[in-house]
Amino acid sequence: MNVTIDLNSGFCFGVVNAIQAAENILKTRDSLYCLGDIVHNNMEVDRLNKLGLVIIDHDQFSELRNVPVLIRAHGEPPETYKIALKNNIELIDASCPVVLRLQNNVRQGYDYIRKSNGQVVIYGKPGHAEVVGLAGQTGNDALIVSQEEDLEKIDFSRPINFYSQTTKGMEGFEHMVSEIKNRQYKAGSDAEFVVNDTICRQVSHRAPQLREFSKNQDIIIFVGGKKSSNGKYLYDICKEINPRTYFVSAPDELDFSWFKGDDHVGICGATSTPRWLMDQIAEIIREN
Ligand code: SF4
Repeated sequence: MNVTIDLNSGFCFGVVNAIQAAENILKTRDSLYCLGDIVHNNMEVDRLNKLGLVIIDHDQFSELRNVPVLIRAHGEPPETYKIALKNNIELIDASCPVVLRLQNNVRQGYDYIRKSNGQVVIYGKPGHAEVVGLAGQTGNDALIVSQEEDLEKIDFSRPINFYSQTTKGMEGFEHMVSEIKNRQYKAGSDAEFVVNDTICRQVSHRAPQLREFSKNQDIIIFVGGKKSSNGKYLYDICKEINPRTYFVSAPDELDFSWFKGDDHVGICGATSTPRWLMDQIAEIIREN
């Protein structure tokens, strides 16, 4: 079988920075705490665990004193920084600069829209670390919408400042924007509606590239972590173009009944998929 790895797939610069920060520190320390999974990929998390990275949750974080803790690319709400200050925790902040800028925008946008009794609305996955960090900028006053039904939470007579989680798809974002406009119109409201397209181009640029890649392969093996938002989004794009698209998180999830002898196999992945894992999967397919 002929196997090609998509050169545009793999870690985005935000994830590369966070992993490099962890690896650099672990050269001089035996262990380092990281608040939440450093990347939504269990195989990469396991690799870093072996180097000494210890993943902790927010409850464990609150119990710590006088130790360094790494903040991953998704960023954290202000509450985390307050706890660190109180408990003398040294934060190694590997929040992605794109996320930090968005947090800042949301904070300023909230101050602005509040003056006219408006609301901040975030298109994102409830409970996702980045969304928790964004909502924290508004004292958790922001409304989180992930599907059309959630728009019922919005008061259309009041101004709206609308943002997106960085890893959401452009189509979904545009659909939400047009649906909000429709509903404002139906409600007879002329309240201000500010649209902030805050989708990360590291993700949105991959959609057209992956469409092109998927078109040219007989079968696609999409490699991604089950918790990855952009993994789910990018997998759906491949599947739409190439129905013979399969999602795997690890080599043992491959099923060789999917393949035919003369297939051109395309391997691709999310912004949280390590290149070494795509290489490993490509090698196994080549050998079979
Ligand atoms: S997807 Fe974009 S915003 Fe998110 S970590 Fe990567 S570079 Fe940063």
